[in-house]
Amino acid sequence: MIACAEHFLPGNDAEPKPDDDVVSSLSKTLGVQAITTDDLGIASKDFGGLKFVKPLALVRPYTTDDVARVVRAAGRSPTLTVAARGNGHSINGQAMAEHGLVLDMRSMNELVQLVRINGAPYVDVSGGALWEDVLKRCVSEFGLAPRSWTDYLSLTVGGTLSYAGVSGQAFRYGPQTSNVTELEVVTGKGETIVCSKTQSPELFFAVLGGLGQFGIITRARIVLQEAPHTVRWIRVVYSEFEEFSSDAEWLVRREEGESCFDYVEGFVFVNSDDPSNGWPNLPLDPQQVFDPIHIPPSAGPVLYCLELALHYRHSDNPSRVDAVVDGLLGRLRFIKGLKFQVDMGYTEFLLRVKRDEEHAKINGVWDAPHPWLNLFVSKSNISEFDSEVFKKILKDGVHGPILVYPLLRNKWDSRQSVVVPESDIFYIVALLRFSPAPPKGPSPQLLVEQNRQILQLCLAKAFDFKLYFPHYHSRQDWINHFGNHQWSRFVERKTAFDPMAILAPGQKIFSRVPQPYSLTQ
Ligand code: FAD
Repeated sequence: MIACAEHFLPGNDAEPKPDDDVVSSLSKTLGVQAITTDDLGIASKDFGGLKFVKPLALVRPYTTDDVARVVRAAGRSPTLTVAARGNGHSINGQAMAEHGLVLDMRSMNELVQLVRINGAPYVDVSGGALWEDVLKRCVSEFGLAPRSWTDYLSLTVGGTLSYAGVSGQAFRYGPQTSNVTELEVVTGKGETIVCSKTQSPELFFAVLGGLGQFGIITRARIVLQEAPHTVRWIRVVYSEFEEFSSDAEWLVRREEGESCFDYVEGFVFVNSDDPSNGWPNLPLDPQQVFDPIHIPPSAGPVLYCLELALHYRHSDNPSRVDAVVDGLLGRLRFIKGLKFQVDMGYTEFLLRVKRDEEHAKINGVWDAPHPWLNLFVSKSNISEFDSEVFKKILKDGVHGPILVYPLLRNKWDSRQSVVVPESDIFYIVALLRFSPAPPKGPSPQLLVEQNRQILQLCLAKAFDFKLYFPHYHSRQDWINHFGNHQWSRFVERKTAFDPMAILAPGQKIFSRVPQPYSLTQ
């Protein structure tokens, strides 16, 4: 437990003490294990590796009360901010707090508790839990699993719920934010509130996709389903974007009750034997070979892959699984001869990117800078995006996956804070760059510039698009991102739940104020 810290911090009307005093006061009251100024390494950097910002201190809360005390303590200073840090997998310093307090949410006491409401299963987990731990515990202890995932699971529950949380299941169940029924949140006022669609709904919807601006998620209740045992994982290759995208859209539009895959994603790769960007990345098994003889002569500089998975259980008849897969694949127009498939355990499938992480660590590209760009692009603009961006600007690849797959807008709840394009179908586009650090690879600045060029093109062509994991420098850019109506709502929510702009300063949306934030600021 962290002891109470408030009376050691200067009140609103007092001059702030020098930092050293503030920290030593905090250390005395919070306890030396809970607060540190020596080991600021993890709090000063993130996965992006583009920003380094020194906080005043790193705090390790164990309970919700600890979190609330730290936020209230910060509120008694005129300047202190608080950043909840999940697993620090942000790209642009979003979980950092320059000269503020960083809360290491992973130190919160572990909670994975099954709850049944009217017979339906849910799991209560702490905001700092890693999704991979939630998966393993739910499958091994209850035979159940959440329905909506991210591709990579060493991310925290609070970290992904602050954005959306998207993977190949989102076409059916919506993002992770659509699969949560209750949250416990510490607001920027230091109040602990349990909220849901019916209890404090304004806070509930604000926090989901809220970029950490309205409260710190200390507990989330997540919808569960029966966990399948096995997954058939399939990749099929296309040379024409129109065929790739219309097949992907046909799959994600399948009605409930119609047979469909349980996971639908897609990606772009370079039409060459380049080991980082091209054909060698397609096979799912070392025994499989990508034979370019199948590629039609009309193919361009890039090819497209639909990545699919079907869940099944040990008790399912193998011929039924084959029949469903063959029936669906039979309707698709991929290049015959460029199909890859493997069967593997469900948990192993969901942890697939963990294996890539191990390789990337060995190759030194995990710890190199990652100037990633993530966008949502409307269906109406995705074809032009393909011809201008994939086929031209990115024709040599990004040294990592270029994801592109469709999502259905009606699975996203517009009451949440996340904003997406207007159209009924939009695509997630993710440039997951894994270039080696200079001098072996390009300078990160060059890649950031390429990202800027892509954004400029989207703006110049008036594409209906939004940044996912938005990162802006000016107030006007944030207003443009949200649009006037959603921006007003965002500011109203900030005023209600974090009026002094204490929380998530690394998002660079609001500046800390000594007095409650007002709508005119
Ligand atoms: P952090 O980076 O630590 O924090 C992100 C933001 O959330 C910060 O503003 C922070 O203050 C705030 N925050 C953190 N915890 C809390 C909390 N408990 N309450 C309130 N606010 C909080 N995203 C997808 O949607 N789909 C993917 O498939 C996907 N794959 C990824 C793969 C890799 C290898 C990486 C590095 C990232 C991926 N992401 C994906 C992006 C990921 O969802 C975001 O970067 C997410 O923010 C990371 O979670 P984190 O726990 O590290 O959060």
